[in-house]
Amino acid sequence: MRIRRIEACARCGKVRRVAARKLCGSCTTTVRRDGTRDQWPRVYRRLADVVEDYRHLHASGESEQQITRRLGYAHPYSLRAALRRAGVR
Ligand SMILES: [Zn+2]
Repeated sequence: MRIRRIEACARCGKVRRVAARKLCGSCTTTVRRDGTRDQWPRVYRRLADVVEDYRHLHASGESEQQITRRLGYAHPYSLRAALRRAGVR
């Protein structure tokens, strides 16, 4: 089970915390500025994995805020939306 999303950035190759397009923070800023962001496809993770991670972390007593951060979501709203899509709550 992978919780933290620290891997090689799709653009610069540096191993860092990456966001939805597998881009690190500085590359995300760069592609937003130069308008090439859509060249980097969004990466979707399997909903079942999100649910499994959420259940594990929730059972360990982590707060929604902590779980949001650990699973790499920008905001608790995004985590809640994913869980709703999965029919969890
Ligand atoms: Zn990068």
